[in-house]
Amino acid sequence: MYTLSRRHFLAGTAGLAAAWTLEQSQILKAMPQAESVFGKVKIRDVETATIQMNYPAHLVKITTDQGISGYGEAYNGAGIVDLVHHAKQYVLGQDPLQVEYLWSRMMEATSGHGSNAGSTVSAIAGIESALWDLAGKILKVPVFVLLGGKYRDKLLAYHDTGSPKTADPKPWIEEALASKAYGFKAMKFDLDWESRNQGVSGRTPYKYRREVWNRVITAEEMRQWYKILESILSALGAGYDVGVDLHWNYNTRDALRFAQEVEPLKLWFLEDPVPPENADALKRITDATRTPILTGENLYTRHGFRPFIEKQACDIIQPDPQKCGGLLETKRIADMADLYYITFACHNMCTPVGTYACAQVCAAIRSFVALESDSIEIPWWKDMVANDGGKFYPGGWFTLPNKPGLGFELNEEVCRQHLAAGTRWFRS
Ligand SMILES: [Mg+2]
Repeated sequence: MYTLSRRHFLAGTAGLAAAWTLEQSQILKAMPQAESVFGKVKIRDVETATIQMNYPAHLVKITTDQGISGYGEAYNGAGIVDLVHHAKQYVLGQDPLQVEYLWSRMMEATSGHGSNAGSTVSAIAGIESALWDLAGKILKVPVFVLLGGKYRDKLLAYHDTGSPKTADPKPWIEEALASKAYGFKAMKFDLDWESRNQGVSGRTPYKYRREVWNRVITAEEMRQWYKILESILSALGAGYDVGVDLHWNYNTRDALRFAQEVEPLKLWFLEDPVPPENADALKRITDATRTPILTGENLYTRHGFRPFIEKQACDIIQPDPQKCGGLLETKRIADMADLYYITFACHNMCTPVGTYACAQVCAAIRSFVALESDSIEIPWWKDMVANDGGKFYPGGWFTLPNKPGLGFELNEEVCRQHLAAGTRWFRS
C-alpha cells in the first residue's frame, strides 16, 4: 500500500505552487491582455443616432479615453433619445467593465423618472448593450462569454411577417411562402387587423366588428382566423412552426375560446391574447388550453415578469432585451422563468445592432427557443453591419459570431444614408 508522508506531501505542494507561479508568468508573457485591464479605460461620452426604418431605431455609441467604442440599441419608443442623454451623466468617467454596477446606478438615479418600467428602462437598456460591447472588446471576448458562456452555436430565428389585413386567405399564404423563401422555418402572423389598436389609430376601417373598444372577438372573426391559419399551415407543409400575435387586444373569455378552437392546428404559440397588466387573466387562459401562451414584450425588469413567472401564467416568456432592461436583466428574467421550466423567446424589433445584442444573450440562456426577426424585408437592413450581413438568416438560423464584444462592425455609409430626418450622426 502507498502512503503519502507529511514530508513528501509538503514537498509536493511547494512544487505545485512553484509550477503555478511559473505558469502564470508565462501566460502574462505570452498574452499581455491577461493582465487586468480593470480601471484602465474610462467612459468619455454617450452619443445617439436615429435610423429611419418602419419606425425610428435609436443607436447608442459609448466612446472612451482609450479610443475604443461600444455600440448598442435602445427600443424605438417615444422619448428614448432624450432619456439616453439624461442617463449618461451616471456613466461618464466610469469604467465600462462595471456593467451591472453602472446599470444599477442609472436605474437608481432615474427612479423618479420611471425606471421601474417604460422608456426610462429602455433607454438604460440601450446604454447597457453598448457597455457589454465595450467590455467584450476590452477583454477580447464575445459578450456571451461574459454572460456565462454559450449553450449553442446558432440560434433559431422566427419571422414576424406582415399582415395583409383581409379575410381572404390568399395574401396570407403569399406572406407565408415569402417567409419560407427567406429560409425561415418559424414565423408569426398578426391576425388582429380589426383590433382596438388598428381601429382606434384609424389605420384600418373595421368591417367584422361592431366597435373597437370592448375587446370582443366576433364569431365571424374567429371563423376567418381559423380559415387563414388552416390555409397557411397547409401551404407551408410539414416542418414549420406558426405563431399568432393578438397584441393584447381581447377579453379573457373570447381569447380563451379562440385558443381552444385552434388547438387542432397545433400552433407554436398564441401571443398576448389579453392586455398585459393582469397575470391572473392570462393564467386563466394558459391553464385552460393546450395552445401554448406567450407574453412579455410589454413587461419591464424582473419585477414586471415576477407575477407571470411565479403564477406560471404563460408557457413562454418573451422579453425584449432592448426594452425590458438590457442583456443581463433578460438573462436574469429567463433564469427566473426556468425555475418553472417556462421557455424563453426573444422579442426583437431592432436593427442588426440590437439583433446582434439579442443574439449574445440568447446564446447564454439555457431555455432559449427562438429569436424574433423583424424588418428583414427592408433591402438595406442587413447591410447596416459590415461584411457579415449574410448572417440574416440562412436556413432560418443566425450563427453566432466569434468576435469580441457584440460581434459586428457598423457600416457607417449605409447607416448614414438612412438617418432620420432632422437628426445627426451620433450626436453628443
Ligand atoms: Mg407582439
